[in-house]
Amino acid sequence: MEAILTATLTQIEESSKVLETDYPDKKSFRKAIELIKIPQRVIKGKIKVGPKTFSAFRIEHNDARGPFKGGIRFHPDSSLDEAQALATLMSLKCAVAGIPYGGGKGIVIVDPSKLTTSELKTLSQEYAKLITPYIGPWKDVPAPDVNTNGQIMAWMLEVYEAKVGYLAPGTFTGKPLELGGSQGRTEATGQGGAYVLSAYCKENGVSPKNSTIAVQGFGNVGFWFAKIAKKLGFKIVAISDSTGAIYDKQGLDIDNLAVLKEKLGNFKEVAKKDKKQFITNEELLELPVTILVPAALENSINKDNMEKISAQVVFEMANGPTTAEADHYLNERGIDVIPDILCNSGGVTVSYFEWVQNLNGYYWTKERVNEELKKTITKAFADIDKIKKEKRVSYRRAANCLALKRIVDAMMLRGRV
Ligand code: NAD
Repeated sequence: MEAILTATLTQIEESSKVLETDYPDKKSFRKAIELIKIPQRVIKGKIKVGPKTFSAFRIEHNDARGPFKGGIRFHPDSSLDEAQALATLMSLKCAVAGIPYGGGKGIVIVDPSKLTTSELKTLSQEYAKLITPYIGPWKDVPAPDVNTNGQIMAWMLEVYEAKVGYLAPGTFTGKPLELGGSQGRTEATGQGGAYVLSAYCKENGVSPKNSTIAVQGFGNVGFWFAKIAKKLGFKIVAISDSTGAIYDKQGLDIDNLAVLKEKLGNFKEVAKKDKKQFITNEELLELPVTILVPAALENSINKDNMEKISAQVVFEMANGPTTAEADHYLNERGIDVIPDILCNSGGVTVSYFEWVQNLNGYYWTKERVNEELKKTITKAFADIDKIKKEKRVSYRRAANCLALKRIVDAMMLRGRV
């Protein structure tokens, strides 16, 4: 079984043991937990693009709290197990954020870099045909994920609407603005993370002025998180891409680095041309900073480097950047790990706002999007912090308990158990 699925199911089992004491009807509670460990529906198909055939899936995990919600990933190394784990994590993430969705995930096992634009369009359209009977604003709402984007959502929306015979922009989120996308979606995940950061620092007496941050990753999430955190007064001392990290104890100018990377292609070249100190991604993870932010890859903090982590806090902006073993170890050392299902929930929260705007046919300003995002994320942090203190558990355990409680309660109210 894929490591990420085993880790997700283990988290659910361990958290359920903490939560069980809250439920007098233990039998129903256990039944609900067992149901949460398996998806409600798995859609499987083969997609033909010219002479090539690709395996495609959509996992619908649990809709007790609302329609399934989750991205569509085009990747050659993806798998059904990975999709199940990601769909399950989406159910937990939506429950933590308090937005009315369950989790879903779509995958096509394909290397899109080997397709022409015309083949990519056909692949997207054929995938939309496969899932059309199962999706819709009140059923399942897909979005972009790895290697998919607003254009792909637009192609899929067209196929769906032609089939059902009416316009339904709320069927997909992450759409281009012209087709009902939301203001603020591009920076939403980084912005949401920055709101979590502010809430964490306020609660734990951490002052931005005296704090240093190292960020692994300079993609959508890493860039926006670093840019906004710098604006809040934090000193970003290191940031990396896949070639390595730029390091400066005095603090980095994130906007300038973006301009240089755009011009020169990668940080290795930027460091060379701009005479900046260049360190490896491994060295970045080991820096003695206040806050370490993995914002690129799964499993980047693992048994091989966990003993060398010197940060005071780990902020999981990427999905699944800490292995279960490393998580236990950091916890024992008293290093707070703020979990992915909270830190990066800003993305799906603004997707939810997009859906709300589509259903209303009324569109918000960026200021309103950010105001609502701040309210949602700050409340999620406060809800988790309360459970953390009441049950004397880690932030991750508290987040999982909060999410499971919300899902289990919805299942019980519906009489599913
Ligand atoms: P992205 O593709 O825009 O950026 C990824 C970054 O990681 C790039 O800077 C790349 O150079 C860097 N990278 C790749 N390989 C690396 C390596 N070996 N070492 C160090 N850095 C490496 O991706 P993204 O959208 O920023 O997503 C990053 C993470 O955040 C992923 O785990 C993703 O699942 C998660 N996430 C993203 C969103 C979103 O809205 N984009 C929402 C929730 C979670």
